[in-house]
Amino acid sequence: MRKKIIFGNWKMNGTNTEVKAFLKLVDKKVKNTDVVAGLGLPFTALQTGVKKAKNVKIAAENVHFHQNGAYTGEVSIAMLQEIGVGYVIIGHSERREMFNETDQSVNAKAIALLANNMTPIICCGETLATKEAGNTVKFVNAQIKAAYKTISKEDAVKTIIAYEPIWAIGTGKTATAQDAQDVCKAIRQNLAKIYDKPTAEQMIIQYGGSVKPANIKELMEQQDIDGALVGGASLVAEDYIALINYN
Ligand code: PGA
Repeated sequence: MRKKIIFGNWKMNGTNTEVKAFLKLVDKKVKNTDVVAGLGLPFTALQTGVKKAKNVKIAAENVHFHQNGAYTGEVSIAMLQEIGVGYVIIGHSERREMFNETDQSVNAKAIALLANNMTPIICCGETLATKEAGNTVKFVNAQIKAAYKTISKEDAVKTIIAYEPIWAIGTGKTATAQDAQDVCKAIRQNLAKIYDKPTAEQMIIQYGGSVKPANIKELMEQQDIDGALVGGASLVAEDYIALINYN
């Protein structure tokens, strides 16, 4: 039985004041559930998040793969670890599209995070053009293969995958539960090829893209969907609580 893991992704939203107020409302409300609840926050709010969250796991939304050095504006793994952050979202499509994140940098970040006992949430997902050309599975499988290059199966099972079709992010267009399931299943089959079936069966695959209280249950009921990565809806305390307690 795989765990259910639902993370919010606040993107470039959330001052310390807002994060504090939000966690005051939600942290206790996600306690009595077997879902692992998490929240991706901007760097400046991470420390507040870690301090104020007893039940919600806090994730950074990016990290650099180098240990330290002349990388103006970047944040290292040690810096995140020092303040108690355990998860990092990497390879989000917004970072791939706008900030030069590549399959290679995603792989380097995953390797560096795993070497430091942190959990990467590795995002993948296709554009509308790729989907319409019928190339979704091929494209996503290539992203996954690149992201896991040289990563052992013992480490692979410590990661989380977030399948987020780009056309569904922030658009209100969710993939149908069946479409999301089909791609998540294909990802798991690909992982079985890269590693083996028992490894693939252990791995957590989230769906993301316009997930909200109204559609989460159906998505979570799919066999190969083990969680969600939620942008917009995770900003509203009562929606976040509803998402975590979807069952
Ligand atoms: P959305 O974003 O839920 O607002 O579509 C999801 C994401 O980008 O992680």
